[in-house]
Amino acid sequence: MADPIQSDPHGFKRRGVLFVLSSPSGAGKSTIARKLLASDDTLAMSVSATTRPMRPGEADGVDYHFVDLTEFRRMVADHEFLEWAHVFDHRYGTPKAPVDAMLGQGRDVLFDIDWQGAQQLYQLAGGDVVRVFILPPSMAELESRLRGRQTDSNEVIERRMSRAASEIAHWDGYDYVLVNDDAESCFRKVKTILEAERLKRSRQTGLIGFIRKLQN
Ligand code: 5GP
Repeated sequence: MADPIQSDPHGFKRRGVLFVLSSPSGAGKSTIARKLLASDDTLAMSVSATTRPMRPGEADGVDYHFVDLTEFRRMVADHEFLEWAHVFDHRYGTPKAPVDAMLGQGRDVLFDIDWQGAQQLYQLAGGDVVRVFILPPSMAELESRLRGRQTDSNEVIERRMSRAASEIAHWDGYDYVLVNDDAESCFRKVKTILEAERLKRSRQTGLIGFIRKLQN
């Protein structure tokens, strides 16, 4: 993967952030991701490839790259993914080239991936990865949000609910854990995490020269 070196507004180089947002589906992660991207030009979204069928309202290349199993398998064989995993009978993977390109343009990258992806990305990029897990306020609220979006059948919703419990069991693999009881306040907290992570000393590689100047 490209070395993630970004510039802050003062022009100091710093290491880019690979910002992972995970949650059981329906916990409000997509809304938060959308708000983050809209509020921050330095942040770019990683668009995953998936073999799952497109939902109404989704667009190819925007929400996902919708590919068939043969194409997905080819991408795996050609090492085109940073990580990939089985989620709900389908395969999902993070294409490597766009992430490299975004880091190369000096941007931080946002990933909406599950715990398996967060784990793999962390193994690959360690300290450059920040993992945030978003919990629903209750399982009843999660179910009502899943039913409210009217995109999945009853059977799919039931499977998503049972999967939510197993996803929540992986909360301890994350750096930050938040409860999304209010979308706006949860978004503000996630944004604060991103801003604080950008300022971490270990990422501020370009500050060394500036500090030396201050000391002379
Ligand atoms: P959905 O089908 O609801 O869009 O996504 C189902 C789950 O797959 C979500 O938890 C989402 O975060 C996860 N997911 C989406 N893209 C990827 C990916 O590229 N890799 C992994 N590991 N999980 C993904």
